[in-house]
Amino acid sequence: MSGTYLGMPAFPTAAASATRDGQLRANLTHATHTIRDKRARAVAELPDWALLREAGAAIKDRTLRHLDGYLERLEAAVTAAGGQVHWAEDAEAANRIVTDLVLATGEREVVKVKSMATQEIGLNAALERAGVRAYETDLAELIVQLGDDLPSHILVPAIHRNRTEIRDIFRERMAEWGRAAPEGLSDRPADLAEAARLHLRQKFLDAKVAVSGANFMVAETGTMVVVESEGNGRMCLTLPETLISVVGIEKVVPSWRDLEVFLQLLPRSSTAERMNPYTSMWTGTTDDDGPRAFHLVLLDNGRTDTLADTVGRQALRCIRCSACLNVCPVYERAGGHAYGSAYPGPIGAILTPQLRGVGSELDASLPYASSLCGACYEVCPVAIDIPEVLVHLRERVVEGGEVTRNGRRVRIRPARGHAAERAAMRAARWTLDHPGVLRAGQRLAGRMRGLQPRRLPGPGRAWTASRDLPPLPAEPFREWWRRTRGEQREAGR
Ligand code: SF4
Repeated sequence: MSGTYLGMPAFPTAAASATRDGQLRANLTHATHTIRDKRARAVAELPDWALLREAGAAIKDRTLRHLDGYLERLEAAVTAAGGQVHWAEDAEAANRIVTDLVLATGEREVVKVKSMATQEIGLNAALERAGVRAYETDLAELIVQLGDDLPSHILVPAIHRNRTEIRDIFRERMAEWGRAAPEGLSDRPADLAEAARLHLRQKFLDAKVAVSGANFMVAETGTMVVVESEGNGRMCLTLPETLISVVGIEKVVPSWRDLEVFLQLLPRSSTAERMNPYTSMWTGTTDDDGPRAFHLVLLDNGRTDTLADTVGRQALRCIRCSACLNVCPVYERAGGHAYGSAYPGPIGAILTPQLRGVGSELDASLPYASSLCGACYEVCPVAIDIPEVLVHLRERVVEGGEVTRNGRRVRIRPARGHAAERAAMRAARWTLDHPGVLRAGQRLAGRMRGLQPRRLPGPGRAWTASRDLPPLPAEPFREWWRRTRGEQREAGR
């Protein structure tokens, strides 16, 4: 697999092949069930979890409503603290800004803290094209990079790999990227962690430039915040001379008071910890300590277009905890690669088609990558109603309509391949508007239920390929109601 999601097939095709991989399913089931059980216990410890969740959602919504003002305040604070702010409208602009900044330092290598934004824009590939090699330092990202693979989970990008596979990757590939794996490396977690530690230490000590993301940006002081478990982030953020942070514009929070809410919500939802082991915060540059130069690249890449959609914008509340992935029955079986973007699982199914639009077959298929069971909404720490957005996006795919693209209102056409669905919906609407026809149809269907096929023919075939067609009842509900309630009324007279 290459280091880019471009050219991935539509979700049903990718998922069909992933679900045939027994090892992948076993790895995913084991990992997601372990994390989700731990998360449930960690959340249950807090009696005010529901209030925290409400507060998190409210802060995010308020910030999004006044995003322009908070971003300007952030820019002023970062600049006053000695940093430089760059605005990137799209992935291409962000990649160009970061590449130019790195090349200006004269360096040809950078270390990276795990960052979804740089994965979203394909920064590593862009740097590679400019002759700059980017080294991932998060353990799971390192596994993905060495394995010439793609991340498949927000929190645990190598969740689809087990220990033996990781040992083999380390043995075979580490030497190409720096310090080789120790002789006779076993698949014990402690040995694998030690091999990664030795490999990465050399990178941290050599690197002059680091690229990071940020979990939050505090507007009032211009402070960036990274929360992590391994300490690799802190090494990247403090040792190099130049630090470049690429952050989505929705990551801003107004004040430190607001940050306090998210620092409670995030660790329990993601790693099931009361507090994450490392919380690194930096504000511009400081004399004689940390990087000499700090650049903040504020990434839009479809976010203001998403903000223009009053239903879909709630996806921008996301704090990337990954709780929704760990409870999703679809993700558990299909794995993260099938979603074809840096954002897998339920959040990917609503965020990616908004950031990229629904113009490609893959993006148009993502709102359907769900059973609409609602488990994702239940666990989301910022109460994103993912099923509501999924249904909203399905309507957009089937019907087309007005959306905002690149800041302008445009009318998009319905996606291809949904003509049967549209016709069925129109027929249903007409029938429901004509109760007499509905009654006659129900009576007729009841009489003919002996002829009901197990699978639908034609366009309905795909729907029944993986579902049982519910049997038609012998008696329509309306007749049952009239018969039973009608008799009761008779008796009551
Ligand atoms: S949508 Fe909610 S549950 Fe899913 S990653 Fe984002 S914040 Fe976490």
